[in-house]
Amino acid sequence: MLNGKIALITGGSRGIGKEIALKFAENGATVISGDLIDPDYSHENVSHVKLNVTDRENIKEIASEIKEKYGRLDILVNNAGITRDSLLQRMKEADWDLVIDINLKGVYNVMQGFVSLLLKSKASSVINMASVVGVDGNAGQTNYAATKGGVVAMSKTWAKEFGGRNVRANCVAPGFIQTPMTDVLSEDTIKGMLDATPLGRLGQVEDIANAVLFLASDESSFITGEVISVSGGLML
Ligand code: NAP
Repeated sequence: MLNGKIALITGGSRGIGKEIALKFAENGATVISGDLIDPDYSHENVSHVKLNVTDRENIKEIASEIKEKYGRLDILVNNAGITRDSLLQRMKEADWDLVIDINLKGVYNVMQGFVSLLLKSKASSVINMASVVGVDGNAGQTNYAATKGGVVAMSKTWAKEFGGRNVRANCVAPGFIQTPMTDVLSEDTIKGMLDATPLGRLGQVEDIANAVLFLASDESSFITGEVISVSGGLML
C-alpha cells in the first residue's frame, strides 16, 4: 500500500508510534522514526533518529538529512505526545506549559520544519494524532484536551492551506488505547472507560495503526481535513 513512500513518524519508539512504524514498513514504506528514547525493535525498512519535537534546530538538521537522502517526504505522522493530568484547580503551570510545548507547539514545529519536503512530493499526507478528548473534553485533562483540540484545528487549517498542492492533512482521534501512556492509570479509571465504550474493550495499537495506514495511503486520496475517531464508540 505504501511502496516507494518516504514516511516520518514522531514518537516512533514505542506505543502507537512503534506500531505505525512497523505497519508502514510492512507495507513497503521507507520509515524514519524520530523519538527521544531508543526503540526496543528493529526492521529493515525503519531507521531511527533522535528527534525532540520541541527542538527546532534538531528538526532542521533531520529535515536537511532527509532532503539530502530522499529529496522529499510523502508521509508525516505527528504522533509524539505526553499527558500531565490533574484537575484544573491543582494543575501546575509547568504541566500546562510542558504539554502545550510538546503536544501543540511540537506539531507546529515539525510541520513547519518538513512542509517544504512534503511539497516536493507529488501527493503527501499528514496525519496528526489527536484524541477524542480534543473534541469532547475530559475532566482532569485541561492541558491535554486543549492541545488535542488545537491539533484538530491545525489539521483543518493545513488541509485548506496546502490542499491546492495535493498535501492532505487529517487527524486520528484515539479513544482509550492500551499503551505505556495508559498503563499508569488506576483500575477505577480503566473500568470507567470500559463502561463508556460501547464495543466493551480497550483499543489496541493496531486499531490506530490501521486507520493511520488508510489515511497515509492513496486509498484515502480524496479525504482531507477529517478527524477519524478510533475509540470503540467512546463518548458517543
Ligand atoms: P507513549 O507510549 O507514551 O509514546 C509516545 C512517544 O512519544 C514516547 O516514545 C515518548 O518518549 C515520545 N515523546 C514524548 N515527548 C517527545 C518529544 N518531545 N519529542 C519526540 N518524542 C517524544 O504514548 P502513546 O499512548 O503511544 O500515544 C501516542 C499518541 O497518541 C500521543 O500523541 C497521544 O496523545 C495519542 N493518544 C493516545 C491515547 C492512548 O490511549 N494511548 C489516546 C488518545 C491519544 P518518552 O517516553 O521519552 O516520553
